Amino acid sequence: MRKRHWAMKIVAVETCVVALPFDMGGPKPAFAGRPWDNLEILVVKVETEDGLVGWGEAFGHAAIPATKAAIDTIIAPLMLGRDAGDIQGLSRTILHSLHLLGRNGSFVYGYSGIEIALWDLLGKRAGLPLYRLLGGRDRGPIDGYASLLAYNDNPLVAKNTAAACAAGYRFIKLHELTRAAVLAAQQAPGAADAAIMLDVNCAWSPVVAREMAASLADDGLMWLEEPVWPPEDVHGLASVRAYGIPISAGENVAGLFGFKSLIEAEAIDIAQPSVTKIGGVQEMIRVFDLCEAHGVEVAPHSPYFGPGFVATLHIIAARMEKPMIEVLWLDMEANPFDPWVRGQNGRFPVPQGPGLGCDPDLEVLERYRTGDWARNVWQANR
Ligand SMILES: [Mg+2]
Repeated sequence: MRKRHWAMKIVAVETCVVALPFDMGGPKPAFAGRPWDNLEILVVKVETEDGLVGWGEAFGHAAIPATKAAIDTIIAPLMLGRDAGDIQGLSRTILHSLHLLGRNGSFVYGYSGIEIALWDLLGKRAGLPLYRLLGGRDRGPIDGYASLLAYNDNPLVAKNTAAACAAGYRFIKLHELTRAAVLAAQQAPGAADAAIMLDVNCAWSPVVAREMAASLADDGLMWLEEPVWPPEDVHGLASVRAYGIPISAGENVAGLFGFKSLIEAEAIDIAQPSVTKIGGVQEMIRVFDLCEAHGVEVAPHSPYFGPGFVATLHIIAARMEKPMIEVLWLDMEANPFDPWVRGQNGRFPVPQGPGLGCDPDLEVLERYRTGDWARNVWQANR
């Protein structure tokens, strides 16, 4: 039998930013102190010596200029000439090379985007969709949960909750700070049988978080997300669990060992790893394994609009007991990764093509691209 040639050198790593106009059913919030006028995707493209191309997405939002610089100037040059299929080895050596620059933040986000593209390449080379590569089966379309952005206006919370329910969502997450907002959502037309979650993005001290958890205890929340500042305060977070609301956290955690700390402190019921932040697909799988061994549920964080969202779909299909994906509640003018990032009746089919199965529409990508492509190209004789 002829030996198949699996080793393929990485010959180019490219990045660009796509900015998509959107409507969220209310005034747009600031994000990290900046106006949030467009949805931005930091697109990562990795090419191997045989011309195969993989697509990834790195976090994201207001961090994009920093993450892009980390990839273009530091991480991409480290990837060139390496074996694209050696994902375990690359995660070990590249993240070790970068660890002095931060174990959470732009460098790990940047590597995450590249790692996702490496899985896309591996799946394409193997002729298998990512969920199959991870040992999963076809689960059919995945339920979305509508993640409403912050309105700080209870009539708008009610209006958008009703609209999401009318669009087919049965699970609604609020980014609000008051019990009144929770009640507004629960009393919205069509929301009687919808499950409501509340995400406060680390807004409260442990004392305030406990007071709020006590006041929300009888409201039937599906979970209360990141109630405590700072996110590293695992014992403060653990103290909020006493009020009986399932507690979720993890989008701001540094890797597997961050989740180990949360679990050892008995701080969470639900872990929320984020594929474009945590180090990519492999680190997500390690978190799933860790949580499984400790009886902790996993519900990934995925407010993305490109390959990061689709990678999450595949991981959920392969590993989540009751599959459900986070979807920001908004309407995009267009997206190069359509139709995979836009559900039907609140459900999201998992692409069946090899790899991520979501190669972009290049015409749409170029139409909404802002700034130039950044290219790092391997030169064999350097
Ligand atoms: Mg969150």
